[in-house]
Amino acid sequence: MKRYAMLIGGKWVDSVSGDVRELRDPANGDVVGVVPEGGREDARAAIHAAREAFDRGPWRKTSALERGKLLLKLADAITRKAETLSHVEVHGCGKPLAEAQFDVADAANCFEFYGGLATKIHGETMAVPANSLSYVVREPIGVCGQIIPWNYPLLMAAWKLAPALAAGNTCVLKPSEMTPMTALELGELMLEVGFPEGVVNIVTGPGAGCGEEIAESHLVDKIAFTGGTVTGRKIATAAAGNLKKITLELGGKNPNIVFADADFEAAVDGALFGAFANQGEVCSAGSRLLVERSIHDRIVEAMVAKIPRVKLGHGLEPGTKMGPLISAGHRDKVESYVRIGLEEGAKLACGGKRPADPALANGHFLEPTIFVGVKPSMRIAREEIFGPVLSVIPFDSEEEAIAIANDTEYGLAAAVWSRSLARAHRVIRELRAGITWVNTYHPTFNELPWGGYKQSGTGRELGLYGIEQYLETKQVNINLDEAPLGWY
Ligand code: NAD
Repeated sequence: MKRYAMLIGGKWVDSVSGDVRELRDPANGDVVGVVPEGGREDARAAIHAAREAFDRGPWRKTSALERGKLLLKLADAITRKAETLSHVEVHGCGKPLAEAQFDVADAANCFEFYGGLATKIHGETMAVPANSLSYVVREPIGVCGQIIPWNYPLLMAAWKLAPALAAGNTCVLKPSEMTPMTALELGELMLEVGFPEGVVNIVTGPGAGCGEEIAESHLVDKIAFTGGTVTGRKIATAAAGNLKKITLELGGKNPNIVFADADFEAAVDGALFGAFANQGEVCSAGSRLLVERSIHDRIVEAMVAKIPRVKLGHGLEPGTKMGPLISAGHRDKVESYVRIGLEEGAKLACGGKRPADPALANGHFLEPTIFVGVKPSMRIAREEIFGPVLSVIPFDSEEEAIAIANDTEYGLAAAVWSRSLARAHRVIRELRAGITWVNTYHPTFNELPWGGYKQSGTGRELGLYGIEQYLETKQVNINLDEAPLGWY
């Protein structure tokens, strides 16, 4: 059990109020860490430190090469500490160890990607109709507030910090109050590899007060948020006070569409993985499975037959394929959707209840749950549940599949399973979603843009698109005429 502090201005500090929060392992309720419970004053101190570091610190004069090297060093440091980080992640948010190990490796890759990119940020020269040398330069935006959720605590910190730092900004990161440990471990590594003080500040505390201050502060130039759509709307409103630049990565209710001509076994595996990886606590989860009617019953039967392989347990137990939900409150919310589904007339093909195993009684476990007889109008087909609940919806034609898939306020991810290349292309072209897959589900790459259409967000993270969101654009015009203008 580790006692953590917040990172502000290069120092490890407690909250001004002295309040702390005990963090519990969601799989068994054990206390696994204690963190300061920061509020507005702590957020303000972090914002001031970031402001000072941006306006007057050495960071502004640090070359892109040096920034890139620091990020590469950080990637190495993460890789060296991968075992500890993945164990802390499992204790903090409950995911199976193999998934945490993947996240840690991916976080290191993200810092490596942007470490390499730091020296490739460049402007351009334009031909203009005047005797002028006119060019465009890219500059950092300034102080970036970054607020992240609990489902991928380290990875989301990497997605936020890596591009912001590569571009030369300073940051105030606020992890979720439920899962701050790996972000703070990352802060330790950042100091170790030599990031100057105040360049990265990490405050721990809830959205109310601590998060709100970051979203509202006029000293913050940009806000990058990942979380729920309702919170995203509040952040956008708060950010309007000084018209911050804004990136929002929000929720989803993602269609995973299986045509009868798909490779059957691959589609069954993809449907289960899409819905139940990370306990279904994934913004891009394939939580709506749209299945061509002729294979609907066979697919459901095959999925249900494989459910016993989704072994529930503590993430560190060998063989665990699904961990607990993040909190008792969140499990209550997910269970309320099971009741709503039944009331709406859907039928449970499996799951819907807590596991009987007494060894799991102290964790927030819920069995993988599959609903059949789901109509697109039902709440379980429209609202983000953010847990291991899959809604299966039959369709009769390609047009109907596309219409159901797009009939949502969200537009984050979507997938198509078919052996027909023409059909796969046709359907993908029609889908209103920012992340799409054919004959697979979930692979995510640091090289590609991540983000949603419609109410799934605004802006993109990762890849070259991601760094754009952390750069200002300045035009420079150098007059090459020596004579005065002579206008007056
Ligand atoms: P959440 O919106 O409740 O909280 C996210 C973060 O915002 C937390 O750090 C929280 O403390 C903070 N926060 C809450 N209210 C705030 C406010 N008024 N002002 C400032 N900060 C505030 O989300 P969550 O429950 O932590 O995460 C689950 C949600 O995140 C899901 O909806 C999921 O789809 C979404 N998500 C999206 C992506 C993506 O890339 N699109 C990735 C992961 C999670």
